[in-house]
Amino acid sequence: MNLEYRAHPEQLVKLILATHNSHKVEELKKILAGQLDGIDLLPYDGPEPIEDGETFSENALIKARAAFSHSGVPTISDDSGICVEALGGAPGIHSARFAGTRVDADNVAKLLEVMKHQANRRAEFHCAAAFVTDGFEHVEVGVWPGSVLFEAQGTNGFGYDPVFEPEGYDIASAQLSSAQKNAISHRRRAFSQLMPIVRNRLLGQE
Ligand code: IMP
Repeated sequence: MNLEYRAHPEQLVKLILATHNSHKVEELKKILAGQLDGIDLLPYDGPEPIEDGETFSENALIKARAAFSHSGVPTISDDSGICVEALGGAPGIHSARFAGTRVDADNVAKLLEVMKHQANRRAEFHCAAAFVTDGFEHVEVGVWPGSVLFEAQGTNGFGYDPVFEPEGYDIASAQLSSAQKNAISHRRRAFSQLMPIVRNRLLGQE
């Protein structure tokens, strides 16, 4: 433990979290909680770049690069979505706007509709977590395997959580507590891999 950082908050190293999705910010704050000793995690309110990458990793880097070049402050970001095997990996990087409206309930309804007669229900949540600072970039990817349910269940979480059954469970991820989800999710997996690299770069420690 570095007591000097606790005694002198002004010496905390700044790190921007470049996401505008309030659900993801809440999850990430909980996921990152144990890994922020010595770090002041700041929100990003600058311009949003066009996410025109072809992979989660490219889009996560686009977001982190934009926030870093706008602010000059080391930045982490994520890009995530659900990939359904029977749909050839769709909606994938287009998950947030699958139904065309950016409304979670519409996306869920569309996924249930297109999967109505599909026997292969296999799906994965993917999360790419990116870190960008001066002269250094790094991305880690986390995958959470499971399947698409036939109807929505549960009210926790966000996005496709009501129709995603994590492998090894017989409930939707929207029926997990936030602590349960955050212990095993794609976002948790990606950021657990990324944060030691961030800490090493910013603080010289893991
Ligand atoms: P992004 O903000 O461009 O990364 O879009 C992510 C989209 O993927 C969200 O709007 C959700 O629809 C979906 N998604 C990503 N992670 C999750 C999750 O943990 N639960 C449910 N849906 C998710």
